[in-house]
Amino acid sequence: AKAAGGARWELFDADRNQQELARYALSAAIPTALERGEFYLDYQPLTSLRDGTMVGVEALVRWRHPELGELRPDRFIGLAEETGLIVPLGGWVLADAAREAENWPAGGRPAAPFVSVNLAVRQVHRPGLVRQVLQVLERTGLPPERLQLEITESAMMSTTGEPVHALRALADMGVRIAIDDFGTGYSNLAYLRDLPVTELKIAGNFVAGLRGCPSDPKTRTDERILASLVSLAHALDLTVTVEGVETAAQADRLRAIGCDAAQGWHFGRPGPTGQILDRLDRERQA
Ligand code: C2E
Ligand code: CA
Ligand code: CA
Repeated sequence: AKAAGGARWELFDADRNQQELARYALSAAIPTALERGEFYLDYQPLTSLRDGTMVGVEALVRWRHPELGELRPDRFIGLAEETGLIVPLGGWVLADAAREAENWPAGGRPAAPFVSVNLAVRQVHRPGLVRQVLQVLERTGLPPERLQLEITESAMMSTTGEPVHALRALADMGVRIAIDDFGTGYSNLAYLRDLPVTELKIAGNFVAGLRGCPSDPKTRTDERILASLVSLAHALDLTVTVEGVETAAQADRLRAIGCDAAQGWHFGRPGPTGQILDRLDRERQA
């Protein structure tokens, strides 16, 4: 029995080693993949809950890997963060999203939708972020108001020094700053006082509860949490976007609670930029 246990452990270790190797190989392939153009962006609408217009669009990175096929960001973003390769990869995402968004027409509306780009912790803390963003805006001609940077709460844990200065400078230029996955990380809200945040994005986990039956206590708790996050945001003059909205019933509840915008399959799945252009076209004709 003991020997068998030992063998199991070896197997487990070998498995772990294999996994580590696979992870290493994947991250080592990122620079070449960038050169070969294997990364691409999908775009997902952020829809106003008041009038149904598409106020913004989130850029989501994907990897068309020659052997492994289509890879979701969850497979490689963590790795890229660990190895620092998120810096060139994130730089490419920012530049490509801005280049694409610059082509979106305003149509009949006051302005074309903004493009929302995820920034990894490392990118936020890196000196030169402001210069990099400025350069992208200059090269693409995208107005700063049409760029939103999504930052997670964990990136905001140290609200002193470089990141705060950088984010203030960007906000002063007119760039929007959103807190991503708000309510899933730390309960320390001091950064909301110190940072020029314009929007809170609430992760889908509270919305899942809205699917349930309204008399279910869990549904009611989720709804109360959402309602209080919305009033917190509005008290601070921030807009609220809720993610992971999959049904019309959820959208209705969120509208009643006072959420400003929603993102999720109910309003549109992530897809190629052509899908965004079609949607703008339909809005113009409506
Ligand atoms: P996120 O920023 O929270 O992005 C939203 C995720 O929810 C996306 O997954 C999106 O496809 C998914 N989603 C959208 N609507 C629904 C819905 O109605 N139901 C459900 N169940 N899911 C929905 P995706 O594209 O796999 O991205 C996963 C995460 O990868 C993102 O989470 C973000 O943290 C990260 N990520 C994606 N692109 C980038 C990037 O360019 N840079 C960095 N640093 N991270 C990125
Ligand atoms: Ca995001
Ligand atoms: Ca999110």
